[in-house]
Amino acid sequence: MEHVVTYLESQNDEGLKANFVISDTVPPQELELEQRLMSEAQLFFGSRFAPEKLTVVMFTNEDHQRAEQTLAELGGSFPNSLSEEINKRSAMGSCNFAFATQDHNGDPIYYECVDTRNFRSKLNYQNPAHEYYHLVHYSLAPVDLPLWQTEGTATFFGASLGFDELDATGMLSRDFIFATSGGFDPWGEGIDNNRLMKWMRTASEAEVIEIYQVLHGDPADRAAYAHYGLGQLATEALIASFGVPAFLDFVAECSVSSPEIAFEASFGLTMDEFYKKLTPYINAVGDWKYESIYHPPKPATWPKDLDDCDSSDPMVVGQDQSGQLVYLSCGPDSKLHPQNGAPEIDQETGWPVEN
Ligand SMILES: [Zn+2]
Repeated sequence: MEHVVTYLESQNDEGLKANFVISDTVPPQELELEQRLMSEAQLFFGSRFAPEKLTVVMFTNEDHQRAEQTLAELGGSFPNSLSEEINKRSAMGSCNFAFATQDHNGDPIYYECVDTRNFRSKLNYQNPAHEYYHLVHYSLAPVDLPLWQTEGTATFFGASLGFDELDATGMLSRDFIFATSGGFDPWGEGIDNNRLMKWMRTASEAEVIEIYQVLHGDPADRAAYAHYGLGQLATEALIASFGVPAFLDFVAECSVSSPEIAFEASFGLTMDEFYKKLTPYINAVGDWKYESIYHPPKPATWPKDLDDCDSSDPMVVGQDQSGQLVYLSCGPDSKLHPQNGAPEIDQETGWPVEN
């Protein structure tokens, strides 16, 4: 995180340079947020990637036809039917997804769906920097890198730049490793939201190497290997050790050497040696998550005395409006709200239910 902030401060701000194609249904606050986050991503990567032309297309849950039409007109590839994707995401409660590609002229473009029914969640603040990094990657090295690097690095920059102002402690970014990894199930044991945390705490060097080696390729079931979360964690470790410029040099080097050779030349160790060195950190982050679930902060009362919270405040346990004990986190309105997806709280003890 520190590396990211220092690197950001060293860049020249020339203002946002992108062409926004916005459908009428896009809420103005979503556009405003997108432009703000996007200009930060542009500023951050400005010395390595300054496209002549960049287009951002925003549409909503109500724009199936228009989104399809724009994709056909401007160009770009999306692996599935865009209408079906909008339907699927909308049915989940919020249309929030994005993808980076190239337009008919070969210029960078990204498409994003936002929702007319609710403002994007904090976690979706990562979208602009995530997609923007994909464009940086294609520009520095138009080649496939190991999946943990392609998606993990986008996720790392998405979280550290996207959550920046919401995340003074860096803990929201760290927790994002787990938020994207509910499908972790490399050994086919069934879905368990806490499986990644449990595995990380005791993972051996050999297991860590095994999982990351699978993520060199592109396994059919990517989510079973937590490609976003484990990739984010590995990128964080590399950037903490070598800094942002050296990391981006490595990506650029992949345009002329294989990722394995570029990795060893850039960082002085093979990928397998890196995975070994990463193991104690993986164990420590697993322990951190375990503690945050099972030894959470003491209960607070709500809404009376915590009606003016700060986005950097940790999650607390408190009562929701019906008097039930739940996890609460600070919303953009500086008020505490029940946290979606948080563990259930035992109403007798006030501690999370262990599962
Ligand atoms: Zn991505």
